Amino acid sequence: APLVEVRGLHKRFNETEVLRGIDLDIGKSEVVCVIGPSGSGKSTLLRCLAGLETYDEGEVRIEGELLGYRERHGRRVRASSAEINRVRRNIGMVFQQFNLWPHMSALDNVMEALLRVRRFSRHEARARADLMLETVGLSHKGDAYPAKLSGGQQQRVAIARALAMEPHIMLFDEPTSALDPELVGEVLQVMKQLARDGMTMAVVTHEMGFAAQVADKVVFIDQGRIAVQGKPREVFHDA
Ligand code: ADP
Ligand code: ADP
Repeated sequence: APLVEVRGLHKRFNETEVLRGIDLDIGKSEVVCVIGPSGSGKSTLLRCLAGLETYDEGEVRIEGELLGYRERHGRRVRASSAEINRVRRNIGMVFQQFNLWPHMSALDNVMEALLRVRRFSRHEARARADLMLETVGLSHKGDAYPAKLSGGQQQRVAIARALAMEPHIMLFDEPTSALDPELVGEVLQVMKQLARDGMTMAVVTHEMGFAAQVADKVVFIDQGRIAVQGKPREVFHDA
C-alpha cells in the first residue's frame, strides 16, 4: 500500500472551501512535488498530511492509519491528541521559516527533541545530532547559534532536526522561498541527496527545475483541486 493515501479530501475555513476533493497517493521512496498558484491550497494540503489541520471530509491515511480521526460504531470521531501524535511521530516537517530556537546552538536544536520526546541520553542524542549535521554538511557549525548562520545553513539545521527523529516521510512547505537566491542551491542539494537515499518526500515548491529533475510525480493544484498530476515530463510538456 502507498505510504500516504488521500481520498476525497475536503477542507473548509469558515465558508471557504480550500481543498475540494483531493485524491493522492505517495508511495514509499517517492518524491512528490506540489506546485500551483498562491492561495490554491498547497500549504493546507501539506498541513493536513502532517496532522496540523483538521479536515472536513475524506481520509488521510499514513501507513494505513487514519490521521486525525478514528472510526467508532461506523462514525468518525476526532482522534485524541495522543493518537494524532503517535502517527505524527513518523512525519518530519520543514517550513518556509526555519523556526530554530534562537537561544540554542545548532547542535542543541537538533538534540532537543531527541532528549525531550525520544528520551535519548545526552550521549546518544549528541551522537545522532552530530551524524545529522554531517548529513546536511554542517559538522563544523554545531556550536553556532542560528543568528550566526546564513538562511541556507539554518534551513539545513531544520532539516537535520527533522531527520534526527527518523521520519518515514518528510514534508517540505516552500523550504527555499525565504532564502536569498544564492542560498537556494545548497538546500535543494541536501533535499536531492535525501531523495537519492530513498526518503519519501512531499515538497511544496516554486522551484520548477527541482521538480522536473527530482520528482517522481508532480501534482499541480489549482483552486483546491488537482488539475494535473503525473511524471514531470507529462506535467511539464516542454521538459
Ligand atoms: P497555498 O499554499 O497554495 O498558497 P494555502 O493553503 O496557504 O495556499 O491557502 C489556501 C487558501 O486558504 C487561501 O485563500 C488562504 O487565505 C486560506 N487559508 C489558509 N489558512 C487559513 C486559515 N487558518 N484560516 C482561514 N483561511 C485560511
Ligand atoms: P503561506 O504563504 O506559506 O501558505 P500564509 O502567509 O498564507 O502562508 O499563511 C501563514 C499562516 O496564516 C498559516 O498558518 C495559515 O494557516 C494562516 N492563514 C492564512 N490565511 C489565513 C486567513 N485568511 N485567515 C486566517 N489564517 C490564515
